[in-house]
Amino acid sequence: MTNARVAVVGYGTIGSRLADGVALQGDMELVGVADVAPSLPLRALYESGADYPLYAVDAAKTGVFDDVGIPVAGTLDDLLAQVDVVLDATPGGIGAQMKELYRSHGVKAIFQGGEKDDIADVFFHGYANYEKGIGAEFLKLTSCNTTGLIRAVDALDRSVGVEKVAITIIRRVADPGDTHRGLVDVLQVEKVPNHQCVDLMKIMPHVHATGLLVHTPVTHGHIINMVATPKKSLNVKAVVDLFKEHPRIQVVKIADGFDSNAAFFQYRRHLGAKRADQYEIGVWEECIGLSGRDVMFAIYIPQEAVTIPETIDGVRACLPMQTDRLEAVALTNRYLGMRG
Ligand code: NAD
Repeated sequence: MTNARVAVVGYGTIGSRLADGVALQGDMELVGVADVAPSLPLRALYESGADYPLYAVDAAKTGVFDDVGIPVAGTLDDLLAQVDVVLDATPGGIGAQMKELYRSHGVKAIFQGGEKDDIADVFFHGYANYEKGIGAEFLKLTSCNTTGLIRAVDALDRSVGVEKVAITIIRRVADPGDTHRGLVDVLQVEKVPNHQCVDLMKIMPHVHATGLLVHTPVTHGHIINMVATPKKSLNVKAVVDLFKEHPRIQVVKIADGFDSNAAFFQYRRHLGAKRADQYEIGVWEECIGLSGRDVMFAIYIPQEAVTIPETIDGVRACLPMQTDRLEAVALTNRYLGMRG
C-alpha cells in the first residue's frame, strides 16, 4: 500500500510526540496537525521552523493563530478529507465529541487513554493484542502506566506464562508545566484495584491483576512495583535476559548511576533526545528479586512518550498495514530509532 496518511488532532503533551513519531515512520505521512489554540508546543513548533501544517479545529477562530503568527493551512474538515487515520490526542472526553466527525469523513481514529473504553471497538496494545486491532475502525490505546505494565507482563507471559500480578503504582501527579494541578506535597492513595489492573485484565484476561496507586508530587515518570506469579519458575538472570531482549524495555543498573526516575530523564537530556523523550520503559536490574516462585521488580514509566510506539502500532493494525504482530512492532521500533 502507499504511505499511510495520518493526522494528529490535539497538539499537546501526547499529540506533539505522536506527530514526531509519525514523521519518523518511513511508511507513513504526517499530513497535518489540528488544535483549537496556540499551545506552548505549537508555538515552539513554529518557532523551531518545523513544517507540520496546522489546521484549525474551529474555522471561526483562526484569528487566535494569526495573532501569534502561526500559519493555518485550513480547517479540520480539510485535514480529515486528506487522511486515512486520525490520532486523537485531545484532553479526555473531547475525543468522544469528535468521533462522529471522524466517522462522517470515513477516517479511522485512535484515541488515547483519557477516553472511556466504549469509544472504540478495540482496547489496543501493540505487543499484547495486535491481532484484535487489525482492520478495526476505532482503537483506544491503554494509558501510559497500563502500556508499560502490559509490555512487561506480556514479555513474561509469552515466555513462561503468568498466573497473576499484584502491583503498586507510584504515580507522578502532573506533567512538567501542569501548574493547574497545584503546588502540592501529599501522597494521595486510591482504592484497590487501580484502573491499570482492570485494564490489563481487559487485554490479558488470563492474568489476574490487582493493585493500589499512590499519587506523588513529581512530574518525571511513574514507578510501578510489581509482584508477578509466573507459571514456571524463573531465576533472576532469566528475567533480566527476557527484559533485555524486549526492544521497548531498557534494563539499567543502579551501579551505573541509574538510581532514580530522574536519572532516566537526565540521561535522555545528555543524549540530546528531543524534549528528553523516552519510548522505552525502564527496569532496574538490581531491583529484580524472587519471593519463592514470585518475581518482584520495578518499572519506570516515562508517561509523556511511552504510548507513542503502541499508538503507531495501532495505525499499522487498523488500516491494516501489517497483519503480523512482530513485523508491525519491529517496523515501528526501527523507525523510532529503538532496537529492532
Ligand atoms: P494536553 O492538555 O497536553 O493536550 C491536549 C491538546 O488538545 C491541547 O493542545 C489542546 O489545546 C487541544 N485541544 C483541546 N480541545 C481540542 C479539540 N476540540 N480539538 C483539537 N484539539 C483540542 O493533553 P495530553 O496530556 O496530551 O492528553 C491527551 C490524551 O492523552 C488524554 O486522553 C490523556 O489521558 C492521554 N495521555 C496522557 C498522558 C500524559 O502523560 N500527559 C499519557 C498517556 C496518555
